[in-house]
Amino acid sequence: MSITKELNRLQSESNEDRKALSLFTSTQSVVHEALNKLGYSDDMFELLKEPLRMLTVRIPVRMDDGKVKLFTGYRAQHNDAVGPTKGGVRFHPDVNEEEVKALSLWMSLKCGIADLPYGGGKGGIICDPRNMSFGELERLSRGYVRAISQVVGPTKDIPAPDVFTNSQIMAWMMDEYSRIREFDSPGFITGKPLVLGGSHGRESATAKGVTICIEEAAKKKNLSLKGSRVIIQGFGNAGSFLSKFLHDAGAIVVGISDAYGALYDQAGLDIDYLLSKRDSFGTVTKLFNTTISNKELLKSECDILVPAAISNQITVENAHEIKAKVVVEAANGPTTIEATKILTERDVFLVPDVLASSGGVTVSYFEWVQNNQGYYWSEEEIDKKLHTIMVNSFETIVNVSQLYQVDMRLAAYMVGVRRMAEASRFRGWI
Ligand code: NAD
Repeated sequence: MSITKELNRLQSESNEDRKALSLFTSTQSVVHEALNKLGYSDDMFELLKEPLRMLTVRIPVRMDDGKVKLFTGYRAQHNDAVGPTKGGVRFHPDVNEEEVKALSLWMSLKCGIADLPYGGGKGGIICDPRNMSFGELERLSRGYVRAISQVVGPTKDIPAPDVFTNSQIMAWMMDEYSRIREFDSPGFITGKPLVLGGSHGRESATAKGVTICIEEAAKKKNLSLKGSRVIIQGFGNAGSFLSKFLHDAGAIVVGISDAYGALYDQAGLDIDYLLSKRDSFGTVTKLFNTTISNKELLKSECDILVPAAISNQITVENAHEIKAKVVVEAANGPTTIEATKILTERDVFLVPDVLASSGGVTVSYFEWVQNNQGYYWSEEEIDKKLHTIMVNSFETIVNVSQLYQVDMRLAAYMVGVRRMAEASRFRGWI
């Protein structure tokens, strides 16, 4: 690698670190405010501001060329006062310690909002699965489980899929854990294939949860979902399922995007065609000549905007230009705290990430319950249970927002943090 390339790489890595750090500190500041509003002392914030445990591991993997490469991985366990910790494992070149910590805190909030008997956890490995063979990915997945096996387990900390990890990777991880423990342990991990104890509806659960939030938010703004114009940023797992659900519900999906650009058409896009053309990394716009940028897409005309790609997309720079009446955050951290204030002042109804994207962990919880009892539910049962939890969470947060006269994000954090704060207090930790 040339010196210039190496410097660029280091520069972009430190940018990622900085971005993750600012996301983490802004999340912490909202947690602090939420605890203050609920009347907790600063000691409670000191306990909850960082994960209780943060494990860094180095994983040797024999690559296909015969050489051994060392990968760095993390597992953060934010707070286990309520129950075992729970959260995905991300395989990505930009994974870093601050991001994993922030995501574990987010998971605690999501579990609190959905009233699940868990605290938050998160894991990640610095790697680029797009440039690895099947065999290398399997050896890395198994190596990660061996490295963290002391601190995880069905009643300790339960991993799941996240960015660039899937049901196959969960299957390898479950198999490795079961070998180490010498008994079959489907409850060790969620997001597994159906034949290994996975749950119906897990793959599309996040998008289903987001759809329910969109329906509820539309009611608050007197919008009918049928005929509403929707823009979705990101066409990966969350964005693609979502586009299908909304299209089938009669909404007009006028814009979608991926990392390379965006498509926008006032008359509505042909979602079934785009879905048939997207690749497994959620890329589709490369096939078209008439694309616009992601920046332009976010401020295009629509009724409902769903950021479903990456963080820091709606900021002070563009919050005044957002045309949507409803913004539903499927991605983690797409709107900055300053932009949240601007949107709220402009009477845009914002459904925050910790509520909107909690459908994934909720169905993961259903999977774990089914594994523990050895009795499996139909997709209809899963959908019904998910709908009840999402609507209850949504209503609770709207009520808290009105009662305390706070924006939806602060209200969601107040709901999300309350259970673990109470559990920590009862346990005598504070
Ligand atoms: P994914 O990797 O499947 O898809 C990501 C999409 O975003 C792709 O279309 C990609 O091209 C696009 N993208 C990447 N970089 C971009 C950029 N710079 N600008 C615009 N688009 C870009 O990921 P996913 O699973 O769909 O997750 C999307 C977001 O939702 C993430 O923030 C994730 O943390 C959050 N989320 C996902 C789930 C889930 O179950 N999938 C659950 C909770 C939260």
